[in-house]
Order: sequence, then structure tokens, then C-alpha cells
Amino acid sequence: CFITLEGTEGVGKSTNLRFIESVLEQHQIDYQLTREPGGTPLAEQVRELLLANRDEKVADDAELLLVFAARAQHLDQVVRPAVDAGRWVLCDRFTDATFAYQGGGRGLSRELISQLETIVQRGLQPDLTILLDLPVEIGLSRASQRGELDRFENEKIEFFDRVRNAYLDRAGSDPKRFAIIDASGTLEQVQEQIAQVLNTFLAK
Ligand code: C5P
Repeated sequence: CFITLEGTEGVGKSTNLRFIESVLEQHQIDYQLTREPGGTPLAEQVRELLLANRDEKVADDAELLLVFAARAQHLDQVVRPAVDAGRWVLCDRFTDATFAYQGGGRGLSRELISQLETIVQRGLQPDLTILLDLPVEIGLSRASQRGELDRFENEKIEFFDRVRNAYLDRAGSDPKRFAIIDASGTLEQVQEQIAQVLNTFLAK
């Protein structure tokens, strides 16, 4: 089983990731926690390249190819071996983030991203994707209070709106795989929704 967690800045991804882990542990599920971009030493190096502040503007296509290079390595070294061994994989972001950030945010075509997805994933898709959704203004103010927005200092709110909308579009086009969680409530309310989604999924 392959579960991914997605969302825009400040939606509470890290806190809720820990909550998802606790639910899997309660069910005594043997899982591997990982993340993208990253998840292997090489892919983590690519992540550092992607997230570094530099004067040189990173070309959109270069960003896209770096994300997929990291993903190819991560799939080869971590995700496929775990899935093949019957372990669950819980991944913090995956290709939906590419459709959201590089597609929605940067404006790269979905067709182009889909082509790379086909090449790199060879049919592998998450079984469940939990999308934490929050109005962009709320998420950004939470994230900026935590000093998490360095890399996006030149981006306007419209960028994050496009990211959010691209996530919601993806979720709308694949409702069986996606669970959209309203992340605007209290932590307790959010986690109640997540627990319900996981319990339904686990009962299948
Ligand atoms: O998941 P996390 O918030 O740690 O991701 C680090 C940063 O990378 C975030 O700012 C996220 O928006 C960005 N990112 C991106 N393109 C991706 C995946 C993540 O710009 N495909």
C-alpha cells in the first residue's frame, strides 16, 4: 500500500503526518516513512539543490526535471523495494505536488508532467492520497510565522492559489484515490477527519 500526503504551505502537513503514523502504528502496520523531493541520500541532495536560495534563476523545466530525477531515484531505491516486500509506504508529497507546484504554480503543461510521470512511475500510483486543504491566506500566515517561506519570497499569493487549485483539480479528477481534508478547523477536527479516512481505507 502506498499512501501520500499533500498540501500547500502551512496546512499542517508535518503534524498530521505524525498523526497518520500513530494510526498506522495502532493498527500494527509495518510501514516505511519517506518524503519527496528526497527520501534517499542522492534524492536528498537534489532536494537541497531545489530548495537552496541562489541568485541564478532556476529554469522551470530544470526544476521539473530535478524533481523527477529525485523521484526516479526514490522509486528505485525506496518505494518499489518496500511495496514489493509487502511493506506500506507513507510518503510526504509525491507527483501530485509536481502537478500543483510545477504545473499550477509555475505554469508547466500537465501533458508534459504526465509524460514524465509515465516514464518514471511506469504505472505505479498511490493507493490513497490525503490532501490537506486550506485557504491560501491562512496557510501562508501560519507558514510565515514559522519562517518557512524563504524560497518563495518572490512569489505572490496568486502563485499559491494556483498551487491549491491544481491540487483540488487533481483531487476532483481522481476522487477514488483522493481524500480532501478541510484543514481550517482545530487540530482535533482535522485529525478526526483523517482518522475516519484511514479507518475506512483500512477496512477495505
Ligand atoms: O514538503 P515540504 O514542505 O518540506 O517541501 C519543501 C518545499 O518544496 C515546499 O516549499 C514545497 O512547496 C516545495 N516543493 C515544490 N515542488 C515540489 C515539491 C515541493 O516546490 N514538487
